[in-house]
Amino acid sequence: MYPKEFQESIKKIETTRQARMVQKIPLLSLTDRTALLEAYHPDYKKGTMREILIGVNKGDKTPHEFANLFEAYSHIEANNFTVPSPKLQTDVLIIGGGGAGVAAAILAKKAKANVFLVTKLRIADANTTMAQGGIQAADKENDSPAIHYLDVVGGGGYKNIPELVNALVSDGPEIIRWLEELGVIFDKAPEGTMLSIHGGGTSRKRMHPCRDYTGAEIMRCLKDEFLDQSNRPDAGKIKYLEYTGALDLLTDADGKCVGAILVNMENGEIFTVKAKTTILATGGAGQLHIQGFPTSNHYGATADGLVLGYRAGAKLTFLDTIQYHPTGVAYPEQILGQLITEKVRGVGAQLVNIDGERFIYELETRDIVASAIIREIQDRKKGIATAQAGGVWLDTPLIEIVSGPGTILKQLPAMYRQFIKFGIDMTKEPVLTYPTQHYQNGGVLCNDQGETNVPGLFVAGEVSGGVHGRNRLMGNSLLDILVFGRRAGKNAAEQALKIANVSDGSLEHVKKYHRELEQAGVAKERKAPMLLPDYRPKEFQGKFSFLSHLK
Ligand SMILES: Cc1cc2nc3c(=O)[nH]c(=O)nc-3n(C[C@H](O)[C@H](O)[C@H](O)COP(=O)(O)OP(=O)(O)OC[C@H]3O[C@@H](n4cnc5c(N)ncnc54)[C@H](O)[C@@H]3O)c2cc1C
Repeated sequence: MYPKEFQESIKKIETTRQARMVQKIPLLSLTDRTALLEAYHPDYKKGTMREILIGVNKGDKTPHEFANLFEAYSHIEANNFTVPSPKLQTDVLIIGGGGAGVAAAILAKKAKANVFLVTKLRIADANTTMAQGGIQAADKENDSPAIHYLDVVGGGGYKNIPELVNALVSDGPEIIRWLEELGVIFDKAPEGTMLSIHGGGTSRKRMHPCRDYTGAEIMRCLKDEFLDQSNRPDAGKIKYLEYTGALDLLTDADGKCVGAILVNMENGEIFTVKAKTTILATGGAGQLHIQGFPTSNHYGATADGLVLGYRAGAKLTFLDTIQYHPTGVAYPEQILGQLITEKVRGVGAQLVNIDGERFIYELETRDIVASAIIREIQDRKKGIATAQAGGVWLDTPLIEIVSGPGTILKQLPAMYRQFIKFGIDMTKEPVLTYPTQHYQNGGVLCNDQGETNVPGLFVAGEVSGGVHGRNRLMGNSLLDILVFGRRAGKNAAEQALKIANVSDGSLEHVKKYHRELEQAGVAKERKAPMLLPDYRPKEFQGKFSFLSHLK
């Protein structure tokens, strides 16, 4: 139920609907895009970033929230700590049990490697399961990987790393075939053709949805395959451990990554796993709440992989750009920042201000739409006031007016449930929206096989950076995690199988990093990785019990 003030504004929206239905809003010119971003996108807000004090990216600008994690000590007092002998040895160690990690495990096992996967929550308790709108791939007759490539770099501000974009778009059609083989039920027309829609910044309809729970459907099948493969006694094997967090990587005398130091988050046991190759697949950083934004992300999105990789010497890239999804929930407060998928705009909902006026073409890229919403509220004062930052309307009833009654329940059932729980029927009333911290455009730099500059260390998925440039398009992350999850899994396995043995590894790189922190005057109290966000009241915050025995 909306309060009375909101209902007044909704009445205005209803009066402008007919005229808006035929209104065409042109795409912005490059000059106007740049001006809008520079004036309103949070990445450009003064005082929100600083130069990193130490490490391979020393001097690069990044949000304070990231810098606080890089300028932090390990939970392990490396100078007074004896690294335990490995509890387990494996060919490939994978850290993270979302889409990228699980895809990597399946391919590494296929290549006949022994795989050990650890994840700090449960397998699939991850952003991948939360993905809603769809996955991009150029598999239609009027489309091609080359056209997809142009859209990706257009969306990324022409800054993307070409080698990575090439891998992304080239593997796209094969990924869709693979997912179908695994059992993913994509939306199809009655005669069996795959349905596809537009997302922001796409010149072709290439978004393949599974209603509005695409990630859950994809993760369901990946997890099934992963569990099935972990029960098969083939040449390669998969073992896994849940509620196990990575605290640091282990390196040998040459700086090669040879495994990780882990914590059992149920009983606090610290142990090590020795690995010939290691893949970081730890996902994103939404729980950092950069600039105080709410987030659409899951509980474990705390940027741990960036910290682990960085301490071991991995180069990071595009650290100064965060994706704020334009349409987070602005009301009701209980679900503040949860996502209203771009698919809602893809199937026809319009963005309107308090007076029922449109102010931007809805399928501009996300950075542009988010900036336009912020301008509408902060500068033009045409937003709807809330207890937080305010909001603008997404006119969802329009979807049913244009495409017929029942369209929302059929195409957006998860969105419908998200709001109806609070008495808001999006088939009849618009929903209120404001940008939310959604995605980490940057991350660990890698090549098109997922290899980083640290020998033996691979990355896949949202923890990596470069493929999306300064702004990811909708549907390209689900594609990214599978393209690079598979590539990293296969290549990490092939590399591992060529190596006879690696040493047990040490925390020498951590000791060196600590010395640099001390020289830079960083206070000892700051620790990373975060592992879990601490939402307890301030008086109760402190170490989690599974870390309490560490100095
Ligand atoms: C609400 C929402 C909707 C989205 N919709 C779409 C969409 O429609 N299309 C699209 O393409 N993309 C979408 N995305 C983005 C996409 O889902 C993610 O970018 C992608 O799934 C990330 O996959 P990943 O495997 O890299 O990370 P995740 O799936 O987040 O998995 C990371 C895993 O690593 C574990 N982990 C983290 N740190 C550690 C540690 N220290 N030790 C051990 N384990 C650790 C985590 O617990 C987690 O299990 C959406 C995201 C959200 C949040």
